[in-house]
Amino acid sequence: MSSGFTGGCLCGAVRYESASEPRITVHCHCEDCRRSSGTGHCTHLAIPEEAFSISGAVTFFERAADSGNMVRRGFCPSCGSPLYSTNSGMPGMIAIRASSLDDLETVKPQMVVYASRAASWEHIDKDLTAFPEMPPNAARPAIART
Ligand SMILES: [Zn+2]
Ligand SMILES: [Zn+2]
Repeated sequence: MSSGFTGGCLCGAVRYESASEPRITVHCHCEDCRRSSGTGHCTHLAIPEEAFSISGAVTFFERAADSGNMVRRGFCPSCGSPLYSTNSGMPGMIAIRASSLDDLETVKPQMVVYASRAASWEHIDKDLTAFPEMPPNAARPAIART
């Protein structure tokens, strides 16, 4: 069992480490994720905040999600790479952006949210649990974003 993972931005000014494996990994097709992603969706790896350590300056863009929760999206102010986000509805959790990982094989997708907003050209893996919007509260605690 692996003990964690590392990542950082494109220019290398920001580096981070997670001492924890991802608690859950989610593809999100919401509009905010899409616009900040560079493609049709974001992939988020949720970890406990206490397992996260980071070096380098991060700039945050804050915006309310559909739920009214505040989502803060952190990115490198030098190269613009998205790094991670937090959601006021999930205190204590950090959602790492898959694009920032050193090893993309860390990603083991488990769930799809806002699947109803996915573009026709996106491939939705039929083996994953997919929700048209956000899942009901019971399934929600560890989900990244919105
Ligand atoms: Zn950078
Ligand atoms: Zn999203």
